[in-house]
Amino acid sequence: MDDTIVLYPATGRGHLVSMIELAKLIAKHHTSIKITIILLTPPNETISTSSIPSINFIHLPPTSLPPPVTPPSFRDIVASFFELPRLNNPNLHQTLLSLSKTANIKAFVIDFFCNSAVQVSSTLNIPTYYFYTSNANGLCHFLYSPTISENIPDSLEDLDIVIDTPGIPSLSSKVLPPVMLDRSHKVYQYFIDTASQMAKSAGLLVNTFESLESRAIKAIIEGKCTPDIPVPPIYCIGPIVSSRKTKEEHECLAWLDSQPSRSVVFLSFGSMGAFSATQLKEMAIGLEKTGVNFLWVVRNPPENGQTSDGMLLEELNLETLFPEGFLERTKERGFLVKQWAPQVAILNHDSVGLFVTHCGWNSILESLCAGVPMLAWPLYAEQKMNSVFLVEEMKMALPVNQPEDGFVSGEELEQRLTELMNSEKGQTIQKRVIAMKEAAAEAASEGGSSRFALAQLVDAMVRVGKK
Ligand code: UDP
Repeated sequence: MDDTIVLYPATGRGHLVSMIELAKLIAKHHTSIKITIILLTPPNETISTSSIPSINFIHLPPTSLPPPVTPPSFRDIVASFFELPRLNNPNLHQTLLSLSKTANIKAFVIDFFCNSAVQVSSTLNIPTYYFYTSNANGLCHFLYSPTISENIPDSLEDLDIVIDTPGIPSLSSKVLPPVMLDRSHKVYQYFIDTASQMAKSAGLLVNTFESLESRAIKAIIEGKCTPDIPVPPIYCIGPIVSSRKTKEEHECLAWLDSQPSRSVVFLSFGSMGAFSATQLKEMAIGLEKTGVNFLWVVRNPPENGQTSDGMLLEELNLETLFPEGFLERTKERGFLVKQWAPQVAILNHDSVGLFVTHCGWNSILESLCAGVPMLAWPLYAEQKMNSVFLVEEMKMALPVNQPEDGFVSGEELEQRLTELMNSEKGQTIQKRVIAMKEAAAEAASEGGSSRFALAQLVDAMVRVGKK
């Protein structure tokens, strides 16, 4: 029987893509072990499973949660990411049992949203690892959150305090992920339970590399973030960056070909980022005043002020979105892409010199690997926290100053872009990003820290894994 490692990703796009890239990485460097991915959702555009023949995909039967009684809040939606895998535990059990008739399951690697799957894997005695798809600074905070919960009895939602976590910068409670603030919502307990269970797992895989986050990684290894429990091994195997190619070359890449080297500011805000109509107009004003060349991924303003994925909204009408005459005046130096752009290819184009990012971890890694300095404009989830790590700890970005309501003026955008391009501080950030680009390549090369960690991980799985 073949040895296999089973991966179990969550359904969110970023989480899913990262897990598939992890599978490809293991398959590339460790050909003796087979990879199986168990999917909660049917295949869709996001992943074309047929294009990766070395990986065995198993789809669980379609399951859906009961329809919500009232329109779900953002917290309810995040809670459902935990609940869908739990509902699927019987299917998962069956699937793992039948797979074990044809293969030796050496290890089970889960996304943290699939935390409930440990009930199944522990019954079957399969060593379980977590793949944390964000950064080690965030992991430090996450592992420490049960301790914070004990030390501070009140819901953080109503407080404005500074949280000190070993190994990472001090964080204002205002920058913590909103789901970690309101303790009366069930999703808070899901996260706390997950953090406690992760600390007891067979190991933690993180999409980072040692020299990028050495302080946080050291704090985790020394057990500073998990004071009451011996810490499991941590494997920093990144940067894992999407290698997905689009079938046809996007027209924005041809436009970039015509622009001078490092002259273009790229603005893109993740898979879900969208702005109000007033904010979009203000951004246009700022960009126009700055006089830079720009490539901007634009989405319709979300309805009712809620973040949407922008993909299902009606056709964008650019004329009505922007200040009068903006499109005409900037047509030589600006390129607008509706909804979705080939971000990795853009960041790696020689004409791109700056990236305005919402601070999703994949976007940060992609920019770093392309050597592009960033302007941090966080929007949702853990992005405000990532922005602090990116600016204060990794020193690869300037922050936009956001007031309480999050609205950024055109003037602020103009000033920060100018500062990043022209000031000494901006130059220091640019040098730091180039140094980190080289460090990332080094870590991922033969003999580099991430390749070594990957080899150690697979070795541990094969040695210790169930026979
Ligand atoms: N992305 C893209 N084109 C876009 C917007 C996003 O290719 O127009 C990709 C981006 O390259 C990244 C992912 O979507 O790989 C977004 O992940 P990230 O962790 O940055 O943010 P999230 O979407 O999870 O908030």
